[in-house]
Amino acid sequence: MSDAAWVRAILALGSNLGERAGTLSAAVVQLADHPGVRLRAESPVVRTKPVGGPAGQPDFLNMVIAVDTTLAPYELLAHCQAVEAAHHRVREVRWGPRTLDVDIITYGDAASDDPALTLPHPRAAQRAFVLYPWSLMDPDATLAGVRVTALAAAADDLPGISLDGTGEPGA
Ligand code: ATP
Ligand code: CA
Ligand code: CA
Repeated sequence: MSDAAWVRAILALGSNLGERAGTLSAAVVQLADHPGVRLRAESPVVRTKPVGGPAGQPDFLNMVIAVDTTLAPYELLAHCQAVEAAHHRVREVRWGPRTLDVDIITYGDAASDDPALTLPHPRAAQRAFVLYPWSLMDPDATLAGVRVTALAAAADDLPGISLDGTGEPGA
């Protein structure tokens, strides 16, 4: 194990169906419950107005975690999808309600345009529901060389985000 190459990855979790907070905390435990995954940091949970998808769906709870992993990128994606499946996620409408969504935002410095695993996540740089909790977890974090605090401040959806339970604006 000592020679294994550990790579830092940032994962974004979202839930807007069912016991959302419980789903997120269980998912963090399940994501870390793998010999090739170590949980390094977790953000606060934020409450987010849905972006895109059908009108009238419930607010999301979103958070970001940092892990170190020995899994290869597609292995990490499969692990994330297994945790989604454990929460009985059903894909019906794109960007529609779901019990759990886990996206890989970054995997080390990896860059890929494969539709099956695009890295960094192609929409993360515009999404305050990813960038804002990430900036709270790690104020020095950067995405493609830009500070996530600056990206979050420029994201259109920032006004729709609050720290869960406080009702305070994310700005
Ligand atoms: P979005 O990607 O805009 O956040 P979504 O999360 O609702 O939308 P999904 O239906 O969860 O989209 O995923 C669709 C496909 O995206 C997955 O099957 C997966 O192969 C692919 N994908 C590409 N890049 C990534 C990534 N960085 N993290 C997770 N899935 C990805
Ligand atoms: Ca997503
Ligand atoms: Ca996804």
